[in-house]
Amino acid sequence: MQTAEIRRRFLEHFASRGHTVVPSASLVSPDPSLLFTVAGMVPFIPYLTGREPAPYPRATSVQKCVRTLDIEEVGKTTRHGTFFQMNGNFSFGDYFKEGAIQHAWELVTGSVDDGGLGFDPEKIWVTVYLDDDEAAEAWHRIAGLPVERIQRLGKKDNYWHTGQPGPGGPCSEIYYDRGPQFGPDGGPLVDTAGDRFLEIWNLVFMQYELTDVRSKEDFRIVGELPKKNIDTGMGLERVAYLLQGVDNLYEIDEVAPVLHRAAEIAGVRYGAGGPGGHETDVRLRVVADHVRSGLMLIGDGVTPGNEGRGYILRRLLRRAVRSMKLLGVDEATLPALLPVSRDAMKASYPELETDFARISSVAYAEEEAFRRTLTSGTALFDTAVREARAAGTPSLSGEQAFSLHDTYGFPIDVTLEMAAEQGVTVDEDGFRALMQQQRDRARADARAKKTGSVDALAYRRLLADHGPTDWRAYDTLRTDSR
Ligand code: ATP
Ligand code: MG
Ligand code: MG
Ligand code: MG
Repeated sequence: MQTAEIRRRFLEHFASRGHTVVPSASLVSPDPSLLFTVAGMVPFIPYLTGREPAPYPRATSVQKCVRTLDIEEVGKTTRHGTFFQMNGNFSFGDYFKEGAIQHAWELVTGSVDDGGLGFDPEKIWVTVYLDDDEAAEAWHRIAGLPVERIQRLGKKDNYWHTGQPGPGGPCSEIYYDRGPQFGPDGGPLVDTAGDRFLEIWNLVFMQYELTDVRSKEDFRIVGELPKKNIDTGMGLERVAYLLQGVDNLYEIDEVAPVLHRAAEIAGVRYGAGGPGGHETDVRLRVVADHVRSGLMLIGDGVTPGNEGRGYILRRLLRRAVRSMKLLGVDEATLPALLPVSRDAMKASYPELETDFARISSVAYAEEEAFRRTLTSGTALFDTAVREARAAGTPSLSGEQAFSLHDTYGFPIDVTLEMAAEQGVTVDEDGFRALMQQQRDRARADARAKKTGSVDALAYRRLLADHGPTDWRAYDTLRTDSR
């Protein structure tokens, strides 16, 4: 089943159950506290927190998301894209736990002929929060799931709140068992790598009024909310990879054509195995993922730069370019790959085609700029590694990493990747400190030019939901990971 068809079925399923279909918001987050839209709920935050009345009782969307925090996972796990699409259904004080479970179950296991996704119910597992007997009971009664396949997890994994006094509640996640060849029995509780039991859908039950919120796991429940909300997120690409019978999300119809074109240009075979085969495959997946993310980000108006969103875009594009170089390609590669990504995505995003002249010129210029410094920067890097080794300290200084960044345009991920290949480390703290100084200077300049305020409350709210940021997550928020 094509990805566009899964998206269509999802929206149709919820539209026919009284949900208003809401178009995806931009990847540039509508919430001022986030650089990018990291989840389907982001555009609905004012309604979910009760700050504004919802214009509809039920909504559904397929939201474009970017989570650069997952960048290190790309190509290595089967399930993380830096860009992905989150299918969601939302209830604002309308149906609650039972409704959410029923709607989800009907879609997941409904027959393909009836508009469902046709998953084998025997392979579905769910998790619920420790004391959420209501959810466990509903899964058992509505879906007929045996109790062994309803597992209980703690606050770290199965609880949501805003980080502020206000709404919060347990969540319940749906997993698909890919089979014993991917790991031992025991369900999502034991499969912490998520290889065998693939998380496809998270259902959040906003149920309680919380107070004394000190951390993700430390808060007090005051009572039930007068209006309870539902917020769900299903990974479109994850469902696609299962339904397309491929091994991972880089092999689905919306991503694989780029991967295969990259392999063709590099003269390598994806999945060939043998020595170096795994590294080659990971690189090809990284290229396919990053090219798509670049395309979608530029499509939403982001342009490469040294700060904020622009820097994230720059990192993605440059990492893709260098990965191609490592695969042995010396020519510019985006002119060959970007149109392939556009063609794979345009069924759902026709604007990529109409706007392609602009999008491609931004991307190609970025590749050219990087190619101009890639060789000299690599030479500087090699010298630095030689010197470090000679000095008996197999570590590059923060200054060296900063200089590669500042003068040669090497994003830190690229430097770290190169260092790892050479078996040397990088003083990341030192680099981070220098970056922070540069950022502080830029901010001070910007403040002097313009006065404006950031909604600190909104920031803390999402921070608590998604956990603290680290420097790589400067653009996005750490999301619950297990
Ligand atoms: P994981 O534990 O696999 O990293 P998550 O718990 O961080 O996923 P949620 O924050 O619960 O993910 O997001 C809701 C859904 O969005 C997930 O169940 C998954 O299907 C999908 N999803 C999350 N992150 C990604 C990603 N990087 N690439 C593709 N799909 C994703
Ligand atoms: Mg989750
Ligand atoms: Mg998870
Ligand atoms: Mg995650």
